[in-house]
Amino acid sequence: MQDCIFCKMVSKEIPVETVYEDEHVLVFKDVKPEAPIHLLLIPKKHITSLLDLDEEDIEVAGRIQLTCAHLAREMGLVERGFRVVCNCGDDAGQAVMHIHYHLLAGRLLKWPPG
Ligand code: 5GP
Ligand code: ZN
Repeated sequence: MQDCIFCKMVSKEIPVETVYEDEHVLVFKDVKPEAPIHLLLIPKKHITSLLDLDEEDIEVAGRIQLTCAHLAREMGLVERGFRVVCNCGDDAGQAVMHIHYHLLAGRLLKWPPG
């Protein structure tokens, strides 16, 4: 989608520090990390938010979850744990209107979040 910063990362129009990539999913480091490990997992297809997922997106949504687990194992995060967050809408602080899942780890993550 034009004017979507994450779509421009998918198309490599904007350079990105890629951590993992397959046909459907791109994972890169957050530019403003909130934890020692802070990755963003996005579908390559433009989907605005969780509310815009359709039946046809079930596979990519599932793949993102599996990719979280795969990366957590690969990065040695299983023992201490990690958090996956998908902000949706204003109160949650969604700033980029291309659905993304934050994978946070490497410090104690308080609950409830601020
Ligand atoms: P949200 O608040 O929408 O859930 O999170 C958006 C995230 O995208 C933020 O954590 C922000 O730091 C990250 N972000 C915004 N612009 C860029 C960028 O140009 N590059 C990278 N790597 N991350 C970005
Ligand atoms: Zn997009």
